[in-house]
Amino acid sequence: MALLVQKFGGTSLGSIERIKAVAQRIQSIKEQGNDLVVVVSAMGHATDQLTQLASEITVDPPHREMDMLLSTGEQVSISLLTMALKELGTQAISLTGTQAGIITESAHGRARILEIRTERIKNLLDQGKTLVIAGFQGTSLGIGGIDEITTLGRGGSDTSAVALAASLEAEKCEIYTDVPGVLTTDPRIVKNAQLMESISCDEMLELASLGAAVLHPRAVEIARNFGVTLVVKSSWDNLEGTTLTSKKNHIFSKCGIEHRSPVDGLELVENQAVVALSNIPDRPGIAADLFESLSEGGVNVDLIIQATHQLDSNDITFTIAEHELIKAQAQCKKFITTVGGEISSQKNLTKLSIYGAGIMGRPGIASSLFQTLSDAGINIRLIATSEVKVSCVIDAALGKKALRSVGEVFKLVEKQMTLNPMIENNNEPEVRGIALDKDQIQISVKNVPDKPGIACTLCSTLAEKNISLDTIVQSERNNKNHTKDISFTLKKSDKKHAKYALEELLSNWKGSKLEEGESIVRISAVGSGMPFTKGTAGKMFRALANQKINIEMIATSEIRTTCIISEKYGEQALKEIHSCFKLGKNES
Ligand code: ADP
Ligand code: ASP
Ligand code: MG
Repeated sequence: MALLVQKFGGTSLGSIERIKAVAQRIQSIKEQGNDLVVVVSAMGHATDQLTQLASEITVDPPHREMDMLLSTGEQVSISLLTMALKELGTQAISLTGTQAGIITESAHGRARILEIRTERIKNLLDQGKTLVIAGFQGTSLGIGGIDEITTLGRGGSDTSAVALAASLEAEKCEIYTDVPGVLTTDPRIVKNAQLMESISCDEMLELASLGAAVLHPRAVEIARNFGVTLVVKSSWDNLEGTTLTSKKNHIFSKCGIEHRSPVDGLELVENQAVVALSNIPDRPGIAADLFESLSEGGVNVDLIIQATHQLDSNDITFTIAEHELIKAQAQCKKFITTVGGEISSQKNLTKLSIYGAGIMGRPGIASSLFQTLSDAGINIRLIATSEVKVSCVIDAALGKKALRSVGEVFKLVEKQMTLNPMIENNNEPEVRGIALDKDQIQISVKNVPDKPGIACTLCSTLAEKNISLDTIVQSERNNKNHTKDISFTLKKSDKKHAKYALEELLSNWKGSKLEEGESIVRISAVGSGMPFTKGTAGKMFRALANQKINIEMIATSEIRTTCIISEKYGEQALKEIHSCFKLGKNES
């Protein structure tokens, strides 16, 4: 007999008919002899409706009261589904997060799961009961030991389900939703998006945190860390869906499920070079021309960064392996002869990266990396961040010193630190999926002092307010008075608090100012094969150029390329990029 955890999202529980249909499905799986723990979300758009009610009373509702309010949504679903199961003759019982023993930290609205005290669940399973548990919520032991209801953040029922599966050592965790599984992109926007049979946790983590709402990224993080078999499938049919795969299953203690040491490892890649093009024209097609020509010249580009434009010109910076510098310079020279601009390049650089799924949503990690480097007197030439990795390009002579200092700060042991790691090419596709994130705004801080530690101060100021910077880009250009501009994106919901904190910080730097850019979206291509394929970024930029869409910012990590573009082109860009990588049905 297998123990299965099944999660049904709001889209699968939109009406009483749907709840009855889900109950039928659960009953038939139970009849096959399985033990079942069912996790549910609030019905349909219930959570949005509750949020709307609160906003009619106040613009800034207290976080505790929001948790009290929003947790009622899931309580409606557990009771109704349990009633429907009982009507069918299934022995079922509903449990809130608190009753199920889901213990979280106390941060209202975004609590992480610390542990699940499974005694009650196990007793009920032993009695042959089917359990229906409220997702998205838990309990914290508040001040004075008083229990407080907490919620995990929007979309968090997926995380409840996977955490339960990890704690109960379930055979499988199945996420039932309104699409057939994980698709190459959002099928609501791109009609010919294709179902993936499988996807790696690393790729899914990137897609989920860059806008693919089908899975909560923290659920993927737990599945990856604990080796939970995770399947996403439709609640409307009986097809196989998508299975998530992970390379290595770490064995972690079940205590502190989402609170392990956030950094798993540190690596140093030597013999890197940076090429910076400045004052090149700011118009659609420029990035496409440049990266196509580099790819034709046989250059494999690693990180790419383009800051927000200044007047009508742009700067683009990229990194390559040092031995490709001559080829890259030759291509760049040809390029600027036709469009104008200047080239500079630097050798003897090293890329230092920290990685770990626990970096996600913890802005303090990147800021303490920057702080450590700054304290060691190491200047950061370039920063690239993804949800699970933060990379800094630094002077090669200081590489080993950086390795030691950073290793100490994150308490890493020798086997967690690698020098020049070999990455295997498993012939994975260069691009597996595309995600569109409409939930970001773009902010630039202009004329900040150009000295080590500035990016770090910005990040730590925001990290103190628990605000993550998503795409950080430092302009390569020096302004006249030794100042720089830094641009980044952040979640719309963090805007008010971020602006407040930054304005206070900027008041210390004379002449600096904060600018909110026009409304933007982030569009990202993700694929494990990207580091082994030349020209991926160029193809993406060409797809945008063909539509005359200008790129505001570019940021990449090893397995993704992200462009920030004007909001009005978001869906059009998604369709074009999806099709340029031939991801749609009948395109491959
Ligand atoms: P649930 O209520 O089941 O949790 P969600 O609305 O949270 O459902 O997630 C499912 C939705 O995610 C789909 O309806 C789809 O529009 C959207 N989505 C975005 N990107 C993808 C993708 N790559 N694959 C599948 N669905 C996606
Ligand atoms: N009901 C919550 C939400 O809408 C949690 C979830 O659906 O996963 O965000
Ligand atoms: Mg969801």
